[in-house]
This record gives sequence, C-alpha cells and structure tokens, in this order.
Amino acid sequence: MELRQLTDRVFYSMHNKEADRPVLGYINGQKYSLMVDSGNSKKHVELFNEAINNEGLRKPDIISITHWHWDHTFGMHAVEGITIAHKKTNDKLAEIAKWKWTDSEMKKRLEAKVEIEFADTCIRKEYPLLSEIRVTTSDISYDGNMEIDLGDIVVELRHIVSPHSEDCIFIFIPQERVLFIGDAVGVDYYNNCYLDKDKLRSLITAIEEFDFDICVMGHAEPVSKLDILNIISSLLDR
Ligand SMILES: [Zn+2]
Repeated sequence: MELRQLTDRVFYSMHNKEADRPVLGYINGQKYSLMVDSGNSKKHVELFNEAINNEGLRKPDIISITHWHWDHTFGMHAVEGITIAHKKTNDKLAEIAKWKWTDSEMKKRLEAKVEIEFADTCIRKEYPLLSEIRVTTSDISYDGNMEIDLGDIVVELRHIVSPHSEDCIFIFIPQERVLFIGDAVGVDYYNNCYLDKDKLRSLITAIEEFDFDICVMGHAEPVSKLDILNIISSLLDR
C-alpha cells in the first residue's frame, strides 16, 4: 500500500475498489498521531501500518471514525491506539456487533433488508473466512463536536448533516487546510440509494464554512474546495 503526502503533516492511503477499502488518513502531530477511519479489516490496518512505518512514521495513537459503514469501521478491533467515534456511530456499531457472521445469517439480513447487496458482496470478498469478522464500538464517544490537540496541531471532529448517513462527521485540520469528509457526499445506500436534497443543501452550507484547500473523500482522489462544491451542486441538479 502506498502512502501519499498531502501537506507537511497530513498523509493518506488510496481507496481500493476490489473489496471497497476506503481512503485512510494520517495526521502527524508532535505528541500524538491520528488515523482517519480504521479500514475494513485487520489486513487493511496491517497494510496501512506497514505503509506508515515505511515512511518512518509511528503507529496512530488515536483513530477517529467518519461514520458507521463496515468499510470504515471493521478494522477497529485491530488498531493499537484509542478509537473515537460519534455517539450515533457507536449506537449503530453496538447493534452490528450483535450480528452473526455466517452465510445463512448474512442471507437472512439481505432478505430482511437490514443489509444491502453491495456491502454483502464486498464483505465476502474481504473476508474469505467470515468467522474473522469482529465488530466493536469505540473506546471514546462524543456528541456534537470534539477537538483534539496532537501537540502542535489541532484536529476538529464536527458532526454535520449528510444525505449519506445520520452519523457523518468531518475531520478538519485548520493548520494544514485539509478537510476529511468520509462519504458525506453520497446517497443513502441503506435507504434505496435515496438522495435527500435538503440534506445535500445543508452539506454545501457546512462545507462552504470550512476554510480549507484540500478535501479528502472516502472513495476518490482528493479534490479542491471548488471541485467538491461543484460535485455537490451537480448532484443537486440530478
Ligand atoms: Zn459510507
């Protein structure tokens, strides 16, 4: 896995469509380092740790989750630092932690429309052995927003309104002018791919208020502030 440097202190690894592995971020503070999302499996976490080690960076001390979807959270049990998620994310993860990971139970969840086809297919690709799936809640949870001082750099966690999921948060690094938005710009896969345009408009307002140059999405190349606003506007016209 390749680690790319965005700014002096911010790095990321690219997404991988094969088993829907999302972008993972890394913010290198003097005192602590923070990882954006925990990846979709132990393997994904191991590849990321290998990539940051190759760059001479230390393993993440803190892991912050952007939203509950499996591809962003199923690696949580395998990270070594402290995990932080929004209360809404944790509530959902607590529910999923009770699920059984057998072929028949997964099929039942598809029939009951608790799970979606796309996630089911990708989970089966990532986990040839379904019994290896471990779902956990985070060590720390918060409601609203949170600020973390990594030493000489501050990271802001901001809960925002998104059409993708109720629990989406942004991870903003003002000093580096970078905004991680996870999958916030996207349809709700768990509601027939519904695109709530009111929520999309709220999202535009939220993004406009952040002072940043680079926007990092969960499953695409980083883009400029202007580009992300144009992408959302084009979705509004759809
Ligand atoms: Zn998602």
